[in-house]
Amino acid sequence: MTRAYNFSPGPAMLPEPVLRQAQAEMLEFRDTGASILEISHRGADFLDVARQAEADLRTLLSIPDDYAVIFASGGATTVQALLPLNFAAPGQACDYVVSGHWGKTAIRQAAHCVEARVAASSEVGGFRDVPPRSDWQLSPDAAYVHVTANETIHGVELRDIPQVGGVPLIADFSSSIASEPLDISRFAAVYAGAQKNLGPVGITVLIVRRELLQRTGQPRAPIFDYGAQAKADSMLNTPPSWNWYLLGLTVRWMLDEGGVAEFGRRSARKAALLYAAIDGSGGFYRNEVAPAARSRMNVPFFLHDPALDAAFLAQARQAGLVALKGHRVLGGMRASLYNAMPEAGVQALAEFMREFQRSHG
Ligand code: PMP
Repeated sequence: MTRAYNFSPGPAMLPEPVLRQAQAEMLEFRDTGASILEISHRGADFLDVARQAEADLRTLLSIPDDYAVIFASGGATTVQALLPLNFAAPGQACDYVVSGHWGKTAIRQAAHCVEARVAASSEVGGFRDVPPRSDWQLSPDAAYVHVTANETIHGVELRDIPQVGGVPLIADFSSSIASEPLDISRFAAVYAGAQKNLGPVGITVLIVRRELLQRTGQPRAPIFDYGAQAKADSMLNTPPSWNWYLLGLTVRWMLDEGGVAEFGRRSARKAALLYAAIDGSGGFYRNEVAPAARSRMNVPFFLHDPALDAAFLAQARQAGLVALKGHRVLGGMRASLYNAMPEAGVQALAEFMREFQRSHG
């Protein structure tokens, strides 16, 4: 099979120029006489890669100087576990706004050492909407407020994140970072696993206001200390250097393509195209998320007759459209439309959906 349009939720499609450059540099990186996989993370060649990736990420996301950027391993889930250890006192309250599966995960990872409160949740309605700000029960004494900007499984996006007062706001942007302009200064910390919009799995970015790193937090091993990690330029131990390199290539590609403003326009067009195909199908396909909360990145949808699911997936695959099977929690289908997914891929999917409806409707 040739390269398909890959709608995987993550690890997700990477830009082809990034894969080609990595392929070209795989055996011999610059004039090191070795692969990027084979050189020391402390040597000048890798340090240059690492610093350039950070500089480019700072440019791409307009990260203010008073924020540290930490490149971590362990995925976004590990960040979720380390947030309370670094930024809350033992047993202190932390407020979580839950709009889907990943918000619940964040609570589960934190609850062992703090009082992780559900400040608001849309679970009763099956996570088909975000909890309205008027329902958020925030406490001024909380260590932080945590939100999930985009719920990858439920396809719910919290855009225009409301004000939360003086308590530091921390946001999981794993599946929507760099998909449109973002004012980082509104957040005390923003984090994202790279495997959707920033590059490969195996590296996670934490952008954190340096002031927050002054917090004492809780007893923890030195390797779990974000302040120490920031001071050591994310090299307390051997970092995931290959992943860091690929992230750098992906970030550079996004800058070359026009940056987050351009990806914001593309994301809006791609999402509009797919939702129009769903809504215009007369019920053959349906998306159950409240229109204002529909994710631009992950679009779950259902066929009116689940008995058609297998044929839909098989024929989509034959048409060069892969990884459309929905998450097991929801069933049905899900199309993820991250930055590396070209508009032509979404057009091909919409056309395939119309064709499938014509032959099975
Ligand atoms: N948060 C969100 C929004 C996610 O989509 C995911 C993974 N899909 C995670 C957290 C967990 O990331 P990881 O598997 O890298 O730990």
